[in-house]
Amino acid sequence: MKQLRFLLFLLPLFLLPGCAAPADPAEETLCRQELLAMDTVMTLTVYGPSGQEAVHQGGELLRELESLLSVTDEGSEIYRVNHSGGDAVSLSEETRLLLSEALALCGDTGGALDVTIYPVVRAWGFTTGDYRVPEEAELSGLLEKVGYAQVTLDGSRLTLPEGVELDLGAVTKGWAGDRLMELFRGSGVTSAIVELGGNVQALGAKPDGSPWRVAVQAPEGGYAGVLEIVDKAVITSGGYQRYFEQDGETYIHIIDPADGRPARSGLASVTVVADRGVRGDGLSTALFVMGREKAEAFWRERQDFDFILLGEDGTVAVTEGLEDCFSLYGGWEGRPLEIIRK
Ligand code: ADP
Ligand code: MG
Repeated sequence: MKQLRFLLFLLPLFLLPGCAAPADPAEETLCRQELLAMDTVMTLTVYGPSGQEAVHQGGELLRELESLLSVTDEGSEIYRVNHSGGDAVSLSEETRLLLSEALALCGDTGGALDVTIYPVVRAWGFTTGDYRVPEEAELSGLLEKVGYAQVTLDGSRLTLPEGVELDLGAVTKGWAGDRLMELFRGSGVTSAIVELGGNVQALGAKPDGSPWRVAVQAPEGGYAGVLEIVDKAVITSGGYQRYFEQDGETYIHIIDPADGRPARSGLASVTVVADRGVRGDGLSTALFVMGREKAEAFWRERQDFDFILLGEDGTVAVTEGLEDCFSLYGGWEGRPLEIIRK
């Protein structure tokens, strides 16, 4: 079971679930829905008069996305695609849009993100919970079926060579966040925040105009820091989220596509702050695989996002765009905070 990596500060839990009129009529009504989807706990919080309808529709949207994109659900579109036996299949518009964004990110990250990693992820047991350490020969066999360049997407026609399988798990929650923001905006909402199993995405600011405060989890539990954000996605990939131990070794669920083994880049977690959830989600996974040096170089070349790196050695580094909106918290206060500059 995944741990929640973020908790929103100061949200009164007694309001769960449903809507609550504010004590002070000058304040906005708050509607909140908590649901289980995509194997994790999700919370949608919407302020304003259209909140109730918006959270309801948001819940429906999440279920629709799950039933399209789940890699394990035998009724999903991804399952159908993964069992197409090398034949071309026609994709829904939703899946086409997500897959084409995801493939672009795979290319942009030099394959650190690879949406065809599924055969390897499955061999380690991460989708089933039957954890095991595959033999070298098994991994090298499976790696022949990994490589996003083997995916042919021509309009909505997708062809995967026999044995190649998609896993959009590294970008699905980020995409879902973007789709929720779109839905809320279209309903006239100006202030909302969603937690999708730890991914946090906000529409606008809090109703009083102040930024949202989002906690960044410490690898050992508790919080390492707090971020103040408006209109952003905050997305973490961490080695402590899903892993198993065998013979004193820890094996995490983020795989380096270069060797098919759990990524060991010296990072405990990468938190990406981006305008779009899908980009933040894809990048958090990819930067975790890359490690600090490559992640910094990648950021310098693009600069349309920021990140927080927690090292396995307890170090904390943030890119300069977060200098004024990130602060260390609790037991982490007083540690050196390194600023990564352009
Ligand atoms: P989470 O989904 O746990 O929040 P991530 O966004 O980092 O975390 O995605 C990790 C998931 O993505 C894994 O569970 C696996 O299904 C898949 N995955 C693992 N390694 C990679 C990779 N290098 N590229 C693409 N997907 C990956
Ligand atoms: Mg990700």
